Amino acid sequence: MEKKIAVLPGDGIGEEVMAQALRVLTAVEKLFGHKFTTTHGLAGGAAFDKYGVHMPEETLKLCQASDAILFGSVGGPVADVLLPKWKNCEANSILNLRKTFKFNANFRPVKILPELQDISPLKAEVIERGVDMVFVRELLGDAYFGEKKTFIDENGRRKATDLSVYDEDQVASVAHVAFKTARLRRNKVTSVDKANVLENSKLWRTVVTEVHEQYKDVQLEHMLVDNCAMQLIRDPSQFDVVVTTNMFGDILSDAAAVLPGSLGLLASASLNSEGFGLYEPPGGSAQDIAGTGTANPVAQILSVAMMLRYSFNLEKEAQAVEKAVEAALKGGCRTRDIFKQAKAGAGEAAGTAPTSKLVNCQEMADEILTHLKQPVLV
Ligand code: NAD
Repeated sequence: MEKKIAVLPGDGIGEEVMAQALRVLTAVEKLFGHKFTTTHGLAGGAAFDKYGVHMPEETLKLCQASDAILFGSVGGPVADVLLPKWKNCEANSILNLRKTFKFNANFRPVKILPELQDISPLKAEVIERGVDMVFVRELLGDAYFGEKKTFIDENGRRKATDLSVYDEDQVASVAHVAFKTARLRRNKVTSVDKANVLENSKLWRTVVTEVHEQYKDVQLEHMLVDNCAMQLIRDPSQFDVVVTTNMFGDILSDAAAVLPGSLGLLASASLNSEGFGLYEPPGGSAQDIAGTGTANPVAQILSVAMMLRYSFNLEKEAQAVEKAVEAALKGGCRTRDIFKQAKAGAGEAAGTAPTSKLVNCQEMADEILTHLKQPVLV
């Protein structure tokens, strides 16, 4: 198979983890006899330095000419967000891509691997019930794309509003995605809203219920967002597919992403209705560790696996990457983000910490590549 991939590493740890993910992609290419042409483009602060904008035309054209987008992360130090280079950097880069390519659904699988139970912030008895869910977040509506205003009100006070809007087509479209996803899993959808207070949540709940008529084999439950936040920590085993609005999904899926122990462990995919996709780790540019070589490359490498599966329909290759990652983690390889927690948590008691080995970003990828080379894992 021949495919063109737009590679946008972005800022901070983006470059570091992307370099390792591309090594894995090259190994897959050789092992399975494909041809993946990768072309780098600038996004975020890196693009601002050269073009004075966060998402230049050149990068958008590159993405348009590609079969998939592999994205790193963008953004500067959180303390510096008001500086021109970083002001609205994340919104300008990512929202621009979402809008241009009409990515309406974001998939974020959250799973706690048995070999990493010791680094999860959850209690062992909660994990033992099983944590394996997929967030399906609507990406093109809500306050992110509604009218935005900052103004002086009639009393001379500064005031700001972000209009949160949904139309029924936006809701129906993502509801179909959620029900179809559930059919490939454990047949349950939890739709999360704030229908006791918000008008657009009432519409959300009504439309999801209507779409459910076509998926009677799938169990549907509605849950208020505040309860969902609590249930994610109390008993995440109850969730299979969680479908929710842009803002609730932004917050809840990040909370869920840390259940496995680090933002550096999970991947995500943003897809449009034609199946074109952008693949990225859930975390940001991690300025606190950028340049130290200690970032965890697993999330970016698993983004490659998702791209192979969803954009190129290469299931065997995707599984090979996922199994290689699992084998490296099972073998005790730990970047600093997951090593610290293993030592502080129940790891010693669980018998995993003493055998774990602290590795840097490149060494983690080296270990994953070692396992990828073993055909027995494929
Ligand atoms: P962050 O996600 O960058 O980091 C949060 C914490 O997780 C940090 O302690 C970081 O070290 C750790 N972390 C994240 N990814 C890691 C990895 N792969 N390996 C090891 N540790 C990892 O969040 P933040 O510090 O709030 O934001 C930094 C910048 O990133 C901000 O400018 C923000 O706007 C931006 N951001 C971008 C995206 C994106 O590009 N999609 C997402 C979130 C935040």
